[in-house]
Amino acid sequence: MAEVLRPDLCVIGAGSGGLSVAAIAASFGVPVVLIERDRMGGDCLNVGCVPSKALIAAGGLAQDIREAGRFGLGRADPQVNMARVRDHVRSVIDAIAPNDSAERFAALGVRVIKAEARFTGPRTVEAGGFTIEARRFVLATGSRPSAPPILGLDTVPYLTNETVFELSRRPERLIVIGGGPIGLELAQAHRRLGAEVIVLEAARLLPRDDPEMATVLERALVAEGVEIRAGAKIERVEQRYARIVAVLRAGDAEETIEGSHLLVAAGRRPVTDGLGLEAAGIGFDRTGVQVDKGLRTTNRRVYAIGDCAGPGGGPYKFTHVANYHAGRVIRSALFRLPVKVDTRAIPRVTYTDPEIAAVGIAEEEARAAKTAFRILRWPVAENDRAQAERSTVGHVKALVARNGRILGCAIAAPHAGDLIVPWALAVAKGLKAQDLANLVFPYPTMSEVTKRAAVEFLRPSAQRPIVRRIVEFARKFG
Ligand SMILES: Cc1cc2nc3c(=O)[nH]c(=O)nc-3n(C[C@H](O)[C@H](O)[C@H](O)COP(=O)(O)OP(=O)(O)OC[C@H]3O[C@@H](n4cnc5c(N)ncnc54)[C@H](O)[C@@H]3O)c2cc1C
Repeated sequence: MAEVLRPDLCVIGAGSGGLSVAAIAASFGVPVVLIERDRMGGDCLNVGCVPSKALIAAGGLAQDIREAGRFGLGRADPQVNMARVRDHVRSVIDAIAPNDSAERFAALGVRVIKAEARFTGPRTVEAGGFTIEARRFVLATGSRPSAPPILGLDTVPYLTNETVFELSRRPERLIVIGGGPIGLELAQAHRRLGAEVIVLEAARLLPRDDPEMATVLERALVAEGVEIRAGAKIERVEQRYARIVAVLRAGDAEETIEGSHLLVAAGRRPVTDGLGLEAAGIGFDRTGVQVDKGLRTTNRRVYAIGDCAGPGGGPYKFTHVANYHAGRVIRSALFRLPVKVDTRAIPRVTYTDPEIAAVGIAEEEARAAKTAFRILRWPVAENDRAQAERSTVGHVKALVARNGRILGCAIAAPHAGDLIVPWALAVAKGLKAQDLANLVFPYPTMSEVTKRAAVEFLRPSAQRPIVRRIVEFARKFG
């Protein structure tokens, strides 16, 4: 007979979302069962954010060595040992893993079950020989890479984020299918580590970002030698001896792209299979588990958060979104407070060089909504710190309402992911450009690009005749 556990909360999936819910609930003394079938930490720690940022850091250093001459130092061709780079990536994961470990969660009072979970009824889950009858359940099962419908893809070996960080030899020529954040981050990192890289994207690069920012990044990637084929129609892929070949079609013409490796980074799909969702009366489709604005599924006892949540959870799939969802669910499940997911102030970042970050609404969206707005721009090249560090590519582009209220911002710049934070606060709190313009920023920091963009809002006022007359008067009689 299976042992029956009756916790307040049962969380399925110990990735970014599940771990957050479990840790917060346990900190309030709530009995929690956490079930994980694979590695604690989920995608973010093991095959996502952490290894990708560690690889990007290695690539960035290789690029610094190449460009050292600009700083008056001896430049060199970096000696890349991919097996050692892989060890670096692994050791970064190992350094963070204890925070997400079963031992740590057990110490917090969470009952961790290492097994596959499956609903057997509307209020029952089975896992590892246990039957769990919880007051509330949280589905946090994440997503996995999806394979685009390309002829022949199932007949060739290809890499995904689940395998690419395991490479112990540098790909000689890497074909990347997908010009979204994951594809471009990995494309640039591999290029900087010495691989030839070609990116094939069916639409345009970073299709969900402001085209202006995508262009800045495209130029930077091309300058580093990444080949980009936007609008590529891949007709088929095939293996020719040890090579992978992608056949592109443009009208009647066929073009053959050859590579030593193929990386597919063309979208992700939510994990909903094998969970017995039907048995629990939980609706789902290919967009994920059906949730309302409060992240509740069609079974009121069950919430879904993070990458597995459908459109009700918002359009963004990030670790910080999974964490945000976790906080919402705690409010609802533990405190019975009403919650509504609001993704307006959620920052989105692509960790290339330059980084691309955005928050709030973009220009296209504002035009489509017929919102009256002004655009404030400021180039990174006008920033003294950026000049000192010889990292001057990119600009800030903020959208403000006529009264100065900040509607959104997009940034292409070094550390744009950090620079976007005050703009996210501004969008969340309804701050105005004047608020940022009046804030004192430390000199010389990259953060001053925010102030300078915000000050642009005041520029037309400085030109108004009345303001000119006041200044003139003050000069004469002051
Ligand atoms: C290459 C890459 C880079 C990324 N970089 C970033 C980044 O820089 N910043 C960022 O914010 N986001 C990034 N992301 C996205 C981020 O990784 C995800 O948004 C985040 O991991 C989602 O968290 P989650 O809790 O929903 O799912 P996950 O972290 O994937 O966790 C889900 C867990 O559920 C488990 N599970 C599934 N089914 C069951 C079952 N039946 N029983 C038990 N356990 C189960 C899985 O094994 C897994 O451990 C990146 C993603 C990738 C692929």
